[in-house]
Amino acid sequence: MSAKLLATLSLLVSATLMGCDPSAQVTEGREEVGSESDAAQQGTVQAAADNSCSTTSVLGLSKQIVAEVNCIAPNTYAAVPARANLVAASNVLLFMEKPARDALVSALDARPNTTMTVNSMLRTPAQQFLLADWGETGSCGVELAAPPGTSNHEGGLAIDIDQYTTWRNTLETRGFQWFGPADDVHYDFVGAGATDKRALGVTAFQRLWNRNNPNDPIAEDGDFGQATAIRMAKSPAAGFALGASCTATSTTPIEVYWSRQQSGSYELRALAGSTVKRVDYLVDGFLIGSASKLDGNNFPDNYTFGTQGKSRKFEVLGFNDNNALVGRGIGMIDVDPGVAFYIRQMGPSLYEVGLERAPAAVAAVELVVDGVKVTDSVSGKVRSTRIAVRHVYSQLGQRQFALSTFNADGTLRGTITRSFKLE
Ligand SMILES: [Zn+2]
Repeated sequence: MSAKLLATLSLLVSATLMGCDPSAQVTEGREEVGSESDAAQQGTVQAAADNSCSTTSVLGLSKQIVAEVNCIAPNTYAAVPARANLVAASNVLLFMEKPARDALVSALDARPNTTMTVNSMLRTPAQQFLLADWGETGSCGVELAAPPGTSNHEGGLAIDIDQYTTWRNTLETRGFQWFGPADDVHYDFVGAGATDKRALGVTAFQRLWNRNNPNDPIAEDGDFGQATAIRMAKSPAAGFALGASCTATSTTPIEVYWSRQQSGSYELRALAGSTVKRVDYLVDGFLIGSASKLDGNNFPDNYTFGTQGKSRKFEVLGFNDNNALVGRGIGMIDVDPGVAFYIRQMGPSLYEVGLERAPAAVAAVELVVDGVKVTDSVSGKVRSTRIAVRHVYSQLGQRQFALSTFNADGTLRGTITRSFKLE
């Protein structure tokens, strides 16, 4: 691993520790103007970061990411139409979210005789990876830049323009907000209809990676964590052999199981549809096991963790005969010999939350999610004596779980709280 990648990873960690939108803390990263012809489109993304100072060097991969986003969520990005007063280099990805695009076109049309030179608009996580790398290493004249997955450029809500003073009033009356002197070329669209779509580019990259690296799968969760950063660094700057695919089979949920043995090792199981011929088991994005249908109908495997640890993300990926990803299930595992909190996917939007190895005195549990008590669909009760609560969640995404335990006499023993992203 290069020093630059380590630096990028440490930046990711520090951004996480800030606990809020890091793009508000650091500048978004000003992009150098390049042209497609100056692209050193050979080698990896990390090599592009090391050997170039233009995000054009990852344009091939970037175009695949944009195309894949439009497969995942059609019409996510709206093309900015040509205007006589709009100037942009050929390497600028001229796309924004539709409300932002409409506001920008309105601004351009309000002043047809004034030029707007756009140096950056939509950015992919591959491009932001370069900017974050250069920002962290102080190269290419880039100040500290937002980590991949966190720049508003990646969601199609930001522009960098040369004439930022000239256009300020026209843009601000249409929902754009000037970043300020720290990143004076940068405007964010904060008007009506702006939604945060930054994670989509990351998911698109993860899908492209998995399509081209079936033996090294990563989570397709939109989080640009360490597992994704490592793969981004070694991805081909010019793009993958297999590009975007709108016909790739979408995944169906897989039921996730694990069971800790006396020895401390974990038995792993998955219940998947008949098209799934092989599954991979991952924890925190790293492969811990793999099993095929030949090993058994529920894909048996086992694994012994080198270290204990709570709140780890468990994931099962299912592949068909052609090695295409067709199934997926997620969960949260406490790798701990004692009482362990768990979340396991059991179907579409269906999750079970409970305790493993609960003390004998625990007579029941209650689950509160984002402040609302949840009924166990197995027992039909809010206070579940089976020490688990199974529920179909109408709202997915990041949720706050609070599991309370009770004695037989009804007194509260304690409460465990966790945050988990339901998918
Ligand atoms: Zn910017």
